[in-house]
Amino acid sequence: MEILRADCGWVCLASDETGSWELTCRRGLWRKYPEEVLRGTIKHLQREFARNPDPVHVLSGRKSPILNDVMRRAGAASWGAVPLKRDGLTIGCMVVSSGSKNTISPSRKQALEVIAWQTGCALARVRAEEQLGGSDREVPGEPDGQGELVCRYLPDGTLIFVNDAYCRFFGRMREDLVGSSFFRGLDERDRELVTHRIDQLVPENPEDVLEVQVPSPSGDLRWVRWTRRAIFDGDGRVIEFRSTGSDITERVTILRALEESERRYRTLVETARDVIFTLDMDFRFTYVSPAVTSVLGYRVQELDSTNVPDTLTESSRKRFLQAYGDLRAAEHASPGRSFSRTEQIEQYHKDGRGVWTEATITFLRDGEDKPNGILMISRDITHRRHVEQMKSDFVTTAAHELRTPLTSILGFSELLLFKNDVTPPESSRYLEYIRKNAERMADIIGDLLDISRIESGEGVPTTPQVVDLLETIEQMAEFYRQSSSLHRIEATLPAGPIEVRADNDKITKLFRNLFDNALRYSPAGGLISLTCESFPEHYLFSIQDEGIGMDPGQAKRVFDPFYRVDASDTAVSGTGLGLTAARNVVEALGGRIWMNSEKGRGTMVEFTLPMRQPTDCEEGSDHEEDPRCG
Ligand code: ATP
Ligand code: MG
Repeated sequence: MEILRADCGWVCLASDETGSWELTCRRGLWRKYPEEVLRGTIKHLQREFARNPDPVHVLSGRKSPILNDVMRRAGAASWGAVPLKRDGLTIGCMVVSSGSKNTISPSRKQALEVIAWQTGCALARVRAEEQLGGSDREVPGEPDGQGELVCRYLPDGTLIFVNDAYCRFFGRMREDLVGSSFFRGLDERDRELVTHRIDQLVPENPEDVLEVQVPSPSGDLRWVRWTRRAIFDGDGRVIEFRSTGSDITERVTILRALEESERRYRTLVETARDVIFTLDMDFRFTYVSPAVTSVLGYRVQELDSTNVPDTLTESSRKRFLQAYGDLRAAEHASPGRSFSRTEQIEQYHKDGRGVWTEATITFLRDGEDKPNGILMISRDITHRRHVEQMKSDFVTTAAHELRTPLTSILGFSELLLFKNDVTPPESSRYLEYIRKNAERMADIIGDLLDISRIESGEGVPTTPQVVDLLETIEQMAEFYRQSSSLHRIEATLPAGPIEVRADNDKITKLFRNLFDNALRYSPAGGLISLTCESFPEHYLFSIQDEGIGMDPGQAKRVFDPFYRVDASDTAVSGTGLGLTAARNVVEALGGRIWMNSEKGRGTMVEFTLPMRQPTDCEEGSDHEEDPRCG
């Protein structure tokens, strides 16, 4: 009763004379109730169990309204009854009940079944013991062979008695068996176990129980549970063993299957990438699957008894409670039907940032189908939301940024087409505008394509070759010097060549992006300095300005596609793709890029590029055939 949290329990067994069930023992509340009520209930139970031949039958209110009524009048709010079986025959039942609701949960029902089964085994054993006879030394008469295997054997294992059931079980004649060894057929490991355990039996502790596999006549292995008692002489030496055994193959098979299915479900739950939570009705976590560590940064134990709403941001908490309210309402409208709700909610990561998850919640139910907990499955959708955000940024940016050059192209081409007095110098200037704007559009589209290739894991196509950057940088510095009188541009470069393996167009565009930014975001002018330092295996480039700068939080995001510190209409125009493209190129070449910036003080972008190894692609070197050598 303690295990089952019941406050009343009783056992009834069939009387040997009449066969009708009688109360054998009882504990708890029932004492208060009239004997007739109890007798009536027992009769009902016997009838119910006779009608239903289930090996284990737990009656619920719905299955037996009369019994349920009697039980309720006796003060039971929840109860369970299981038959007691001996050698396959129902010989009585065991009942537990409790004054509070839902005490007999599915797991307690199972425990009740197991206890009833063990009680059945114990009863069978007592009976078999009785068959073995009163005096220790006396060879018993023929037992009735109801199924329980009974034998006696000497300390060396020689059988001196076997009952009918034993003969039937092994498919041998008694004459063959008596005189043979009890250990025959046992495999090496079980034989060792049996002999080892024998040594531990002493007069103060003469009994043990072991479960072993033995071969049946048909050749398959069956599980037998042996209860063995050692009989000692006056000097404490073992004279013989008396054993009773029952075939527990079916139960072991069921247990194994249960364990296997439990293991499979556990594996499923524990390897799932989605986080699986179970909550009690006060929203406290009762189970959290290990995926929580990768999604929310917590170890499983750290969330013990945490309240779910505490792990959600303010607006998500509202959404979660609303979803729960909807579920409750649906349950109220059609009790017992399964409903689920899916919501996008933002949960706090252990490090404080928000993680977007798509959470599906549904009720967990007790044996009576009433909700007694909540199952919540959370899928990390931070990346998906990021991509969605990017797509919407893209639409805005593309519409805005592509329209500007397109308008120029349309305008100048219309001038060329419809203006009658266009002079040749004007016409070539217009064409030049058209070409420039078309180039700008091609640039934007190229960046977009590169980003979408990278997002889909395809990588940016490159045709690398050995490039000397010294000249490229010097020419570019000179170009910007000419184009801006506001800025002072300095380039401090090594004396020798700066050789890297790269795609010439892309690397040129990388420097152009960085120079453009330095100039664009330093509207008041100032010094722009570019340096290149050589290290044994790489170059370190740095481009620094004295412009508007930004705060560190913004500097962390500038490499994200479409991110612009100032995206207002009055800001300098741009797509927010320049630095994304720069990072893609640097990383594709095996380098790294980062930014340091201070608001109002200026910005420094640094990046590394691997140095072209002299042996890599020289003519005649082992690498000459390498397709990467271009
Ligand atoms: P484009 O695609 O035309 O280059 P963009 O310059 O806006 O557009 P990025 O080069 O990716 O895009 O830069 C992203 C944002 O980072 C810019 O909008 C700007 O706000 C900020 N930024 C970049 N470089 C600097 C810099 N040197 N000084 C200050 N802010 C900068
Ligand atoms: Mg830029």
